[in-house]
Amino acid sequence: MNFSKKAQRIMFALWLLFVPPGTLLLYLYSPTRPGEWEGYGAFLLLALLSSIFPFFIAGTTFVLVIWVQIAIFLKYGILAELISMQICMIPLSYHLKISRDSLYKYFYNSFMFFSLSVLCGNLIVLLGYEIGSVRIRDVIIYGSIFAISYLLINHLFLYMREYLCNMKVVFFSKDFYWEFACLFITLPFGLGLYLFEHSTGNTALWLLGLPLISITLLIRMYSDSEKVNADLNEASEFGHQLAERMTSTEILDMFLKRLSDMFPFDAGYIVDNVENNFFILRAREDGENKELEYVHDDIKYSLAGKGYEKGEPILYNKQKEWTHMKPPFLADDMQSVMCVPIYRNQRIEGVLVLAAREKFAFESYQLKIVHLLCSYFAVSLEKARYVKEAVEKSEICDLTKIYNYRYLDKQLKLDISRLNKGSSRTVSLIMMDIDKFKAVNDTYGHHSGNIILQEFANIIKEEIGSSGTVGRYGGEEFVIILPNYSKLQAMNVAEQLRRKIEQTPFMVPLDLGEISREEIIFITASIGVSTAPEDSDEGLSLLRNADRALYIGAKQAGRNRVAEYVR
Ligand code: GH3
Ligand code: MG
Ligand code: MG
Repeated sequence: MNFSKKAQRIMFALWLLFVPPGTLLLYLYSPTRPGEWEGYGAFLLLALLSSIFPFFIAGTTFVLVIWVQIAIFLKYGILAELISMQICMIPLSYHLKISRDSLYKYFYNSFMFFSLSVLCGNLIVLLGYEIGSVRIRDVIIYGSIFAISYLLINHLFLYMREYLCNMKVVFFSKDFYWEFACLFITLPFGLGLYLFEHSTGNTALWLLGLPLISITLLIRMYSDSEKVNADLNEASEFGHQLAERMTSTEILDMFLKRLSDMFPFDAGYIVDNVENNFFILRAREDGENKELEYVHDDIKYSLAGKGYEKGEPILYNKQKEWTHMKPPFLADDMQSVMCVPIYRNQRIEGVLVLAAREKFAFESYQLKIVHLLCSYFAVSLEKARYVKEAVEKSEICDLTKIYNYRYLDKQLKLDISRLNKGSSRTVSLIMMDIDKFKAVNDTYGHHSGNIILQEFANIIKEEIGSSGTVGRYGGEEFVIILPNYSKLQAMNVAEQLRRKIEQTPFMVPLDLGEISREEIIFITASIGVSTAPEDSDEGLSLLRNADRALYIGAKQAGRNRVAEYVR
């Protein structure tokens, strides 16, 4: 639940307008005002004890306090019930982690419980209940109506709140049935408490209160371990999903996004350390993944750097604990901070910093789960790096270190599809074949041939630079893809290349027994050029066209020349 600033102000105004004056009016004029408050303190104590142990079922927090509230209402009336509920909200606010910034939540809850007490209390009185009545039939009927209407109106409030916050809501949700089940169990305790207290006095409070609070504690212990189990299950699923991601960016983004779904943080930073320099690999602030350019010496001396040095996860519950080592990237309004080292191969690679504006936002078991997730994360990231390297390797020619046929094919398809989508005007293709290369091999040896191929690849790569893609098509044939080059422009580039090759002296080793020396040789190349869309709008035929131009227009015409494709 997050209210806008305006909604928060309205909430506070509503509270001010209704709660204090309403309470005063009830005190002055309520027809159900109790004549005596004797024994009220003991009831209040029991209500407080019941509300300090909330437990967690199926994702919802439950507080079993209504049973005492029923008895208080039956015995003392609306005002007494109202005051008790407002007091019980204090431990409740602690569990809801309400801080100064989220104080509106307190006012919202206070207003909601105030309305509940007034609505339900008056309803029962209007229906004919006389406060303090001990007629069994009245106690059962009115007590039950009080409890059920309390639950229904409470649920209606929550439903409306979620609806107003534009959340997806269903009225008869799983929570609703759980609340109903809890009420079903505690209602007899509430009615019993009232009747029992009437006949035996305060002893009843202990006799009924002790077992119920003990059961709450047991459920709480069980539900806590359930909560850990649920989080662990989610963590394991999260780990699998991380492992399925192939690129580093995908992993970084998914890691922060899923973490924020699991843990209530407002800002998260993956701090990397490369050669003793800290920088932020990826950040997520208020629900948005961000790239932060942040290389800063101060990080080293901040809690991030300390966490990195220490190599152990640390939890800070409020700003006071870390303010003397505040990282430069952390906003001033943060309170809780979790700092978890990221290990890979038993070495710390970086740290994860999660921060929340609320105090005590993280629990210590969550720190352990985040620590576990960080190892999943590090392993997945490493795997992605390997995959990237392997893919790159499979697309590079081992000998010449330029792209191979596989990559050329992929890039050509990409450039042609851009052309067909209208993002480029033309795509030109240059195919080159070294002239009489077999003879070079025969004369100087295969090794020398290889050296020439390497040098040849370097020359064209340097000449083309970033204007196109250069690759080895096979053997002594090379291809250059030039997006947005017209036929004429590509012919000019080809001619420039042809001349450059012709004029370049190639050094090849000559192995003459004991003495080894180098010899300079000159080579030439024949070149064919074709352009899309004028010659073809399909990658494979563009290649075929360039090949045809190369063989018919250049090789057959005497080699060492450039030829364009003609239909
Ligand atoms: P032209 O293209 O001018 O018609 O004559 P060519 O001799 O270059 O043509 P051909 O296609 O007959 O021969 C290509 C030669 O390239 C055959 C082979 O010895 C050589 N070759 C192909 N791949 C390699 C390689 O990786 N290393 C070396 N050293 N030679 C290679
Ligand atoms: Mg050839
Ligand atoms: Mg050749």
